[in-house]
Amino acid sequence: MAALPYIVGNWKMNGTRGMLNEARAIDRSAARFPKVQVAIAPPATLLYRTREAVEFIGVGGQDCHAYDSGAYTGDISAVMLKDTGADFTIVGHSERREYHAESDEEVRVKAEAALSAGLAVILCVGETEAQRDAGDAEAVVGSQLEGSCPRTEGAVEKLSVAYEPVWAIGTGRVPSVEDVAAMHKSIRAKLVAIYGDAGAEVRILYGGSVKAENASELLGIADVGGALVGGASLSAESFLAIVGAAA
Ligand code: PEP
Repeated sequence: MAALPYIVGNWKMNGTRGMLNEARAIDRSAARFPKVQVAIAPPATLLYRTREAVEFIGVGGQDCHAYDSGAYTGDISAVMLKDTGADFTIVGHSERREYHAESDEEVRVKAEAALSAGLAVILCVGETEAQRDAGDAEAVVGSQLEGSCPRTEGAVEKLSVAYEPVWAIGTGRVPSVEDVAAMHKSIRAKLVAIYGDAGAEVRILYGGSVKAENASELLGIADVGGALVGGASLSAESFLAIVGAAA
């Protein structure tokens, strides 16, 4: 059976308690779209409250530490995310890779920690504009997957990959339909190379300036199994328009 389209909102470092109203509104309306899997990743400070406020949608973290506990001031472990009621976590977002200098190896270890805490994982990969201009986009993303895909037993069953070209995040620019299709095909081939036949089942999301206006087109591309949405997930109205486009 084909997996449902998966639409995930990444709130990044946005939102205080007032944003719970948006979470509730998303949740109420998501119930009207049973053929779409909907989730949000609020900031860690809102995770527990969001979990308590919603019924139908998934709730997840935006990152986790590689270790379960210890002297890592300011960090949050996968076990702690799970304890708030989170279902999943994002790892390897380009903002983590860039601003926190996270390597593929660190991202892999985080993904493995999340899985062992019982969370599903959304692993982000994507090339910079310079890498695309140099014709290296597929090689860069292939190498990120090689280095950051979790290798623990059963990992593949709880894994989604989000292809997020760095130059498309928050810029209003999106790659062409052909470029998204070619990249998702290449990611699929890499996942099968890593996981064997099970790699064919991993959902591959597209992320980068997804909005109500372009969602249908992007979600209609071969092997685009959903979307990771930043800016447009901060209001229930704009996020639900994307959910509606996936239905
Ligand atoms: C993101 O950062 O995951 C993202 C896709 O952001 P935006 O939708 O704002 O481009």
